[in-house]
Amino acid sequence: MEVLKFGGTSVANATAISRVLDIVDAARSRGKVALVCSAISGCTDELIALSAMEPEERERAGKAILDRHNAIVNRLFTGKERKDVVQTVLDTFKDLMEADPEDYQTFGELFSTRIIAAKLRCDGVNALWLDSRDLIRISGESVDKPVTYKRIAKAVSDHPEVEVFVVPGFIGSDATGHVRTLGRGGSDQTASLFAAALGADDLQIWTDVPGIMTTNPKDVRSARTIPQISYDAAFTLAACGAKVLYAPAVEPAREAGINIRILDTFHPDLPGTVVGPFPRRERGSWVGIACKKDGADSKLCLVADGPLDSSVPGELRARLERANIVTRSIMFGSEDHILISLDHGDELEALRTCHYICFETDDAVDVFLAGEGKVGRALLDIIGKTDNRINVRLVARHECEDEAFFREMFATASGKAVFVDCTDSETIYKWYVPVLEAGINVVSSNRRALSVPYAEFALMKRTARRMRRFLRYETTVGAALPILDSINMSTNSADEILSIEAVVSCTLNYILTSGLPFEEALRKAQEIGLTEKDPSMDLGGKDAVRKLLILAREAGIPLEESDVAIEPVDGSAVQTGQRFVASIEKDTSAPKGYRAAIRLKTVGPDDPAWNVRGTDNMISIRSAFHPSPLIIQGAGEGAKMAASSVLNDILR
Ligand code: ASP
Ligand code: MG
Repeated sequence: MEVLKFGGTSVANATAISRVLDIVDAARSRGKVALVCSAISGCTDELIALSAMEPEERERAGKAILDRHNAIVNRLFTGKERKDVVQTVLDTFKDLMEADPEDYQTFGELFSTRIIAAKLRCDGVNALWLDSRDLIRISGESVDKPVTYKRIAKAVSDHPEVEVFVVPGFIGSDATGHVRTLGRGGSDQTASLFAAALGADDLQIWTDVPGIMTTNPKDVRSARTIPQISYDAAFTLAACGAKVLYAPAVEPAREAGINIRILDTFHPDLPGTVVGPFPRRERGSWVGIACKKDGADSKLCLVADGPLDSSVPGELRARLERANIVTRSIMFGSEDHILISLDHGDELEALRTCHYICFETDDAVDVFLAGEGKVGRALLDIIGKTDNRINVRLVARHECEDEAFFREMFATASGKAVFVDCTDSETIYKWYVPVLEAGINVVSSNRRALSVPYAEFALMKRTARRMRRFLRYETTVGAALPILDSINMSTNSADEILSIEAVVSCTLNYILTSGLPFEEALRKAQEIGLTEKDPSMDLGGKDAVRKLLILAREAGIPLEESDVAIEPVDGSAVQTGQRFVASIEKDTSAPKGYRAAIRLKTVGPDDPAWNVRGTDNMISIRSAFHPSPLIIQGAGEGAKMAASSVLNDILR
């Protein structure tokens, strides 16, 4: 059994209702459905206004409500069915006009759900309209859950043949049988009660925003969806004015251990928000902000996912003061949330500023790390020591390409999330595009991932641009040296690269400059862990090719491995004064406009490569604007350094 609840805008007119029916169809293919609906948007307000009118006025205003529903019926039905449903609506309207004006507001859900139930039946669905007034028992200010649950369970089990139960939200009745409401927004609670009573597999609240958001997107355009939120935090936000969810709806679902999913009727493919039993964090970070008018003042409620530091109110006050916003008071509502009270009229400005402080300037970044090798471990170590607000959310073992790792990342990443690839997997790059498409940035130290066939590389780049996310991999060439960035600057300024010469193989440079005989130097390099597992990879230039491809592509040259002429190093032929050089050079006769090669080159004291010793790297870039080359030289090896470069890519 799935319980689906649709709010007023989701059933506002015939087009919206058709969307609802599509979503119900999909749910029906999985099993039974309880479909809870609100009144059509604005209807409850109109009914409340109606009840306060003089009798003469009432007729005209009542007619307008009837007409809105009839317009929907005329669009959804034809022929005999239309006649029948028009009659149903008219009967409901007659009941309304005869009711106690106090009870007018309980009619909106009767109209909407009777129309929708009729439409489902007309489409051949075995649908049954249930009268919530007979099921939900309201005593005093609260719901009598034992009675309510028993009645709901019975109503459903009495009709095993029914596929979709259609349920008016918002209403119930007291012990005397008199109709009552659950309070404004109460249809969410109806749905939660049904889910709990029926032990539903899924409780979905369909609305007109893409989930619970960091604040109301109508007030702050940069508000974003919260992927996961605890029952507690959702309750606090709802109780403090977030309209997307009715606060009393949290409890029944929580008691029954059912997650509440908040979804967008108008964008049904978006993941929405899951409200569930997510644990508190040791140190709270901001989740969302609600805003409410409260008597003489307005209140903002800033909610976190764990305890906040005692200094937070003071810091907020200072920040707001700097923005010329006067607050009446700022105090803790609980360990996990802060209440700011303001004069009426100041709340929007204050809300925008607080949203900016909590969600836009905060440098807190969620990091999802794959690969716990040397670089990955060094990175975790540095993150632990810096003041930068980085939350390491998920770490996958070395070479991990576990689907669950990525699924969890997609479900929980915030707007500032970064996926960090410190593996040396050949295939993990296949995840880069889906990761970027999920709105998550990518930082990689894995040069295998960036030296894949050009078409795949170009797709990653395009996706990053389209999604306005970054894909950074400075570490893949020359570790922490700012090489790719420098090439980028040239390319961005329409400069034309004439040649690049690079000494980028730490291993070979170490061997060639050690002063030892080749074989001995190679053995030493192996001992200190400089070589690849298979040293012929280094000698054969395999690693250097990857770096050259990345360099060339950064310069806008769509180089493939097959374009590079490689002369592997033959240990017995090595002479002193040689360096292992990767180069590209402009050559209009070459197929891609450039010639690319990797080979031993004999250099003299005038060559910038002459001075490159040990595991240092050097790159020399000649361009049209810089005919005298830009030379970058420095350490090219070391896990700590590589990790610091990864961190730079994350934070820059
Ligand atoms: N129709 C009711 C209201 O407007 C209940 C609901 O929509 O949840 O408050
Ligand atoms: Mg609502």
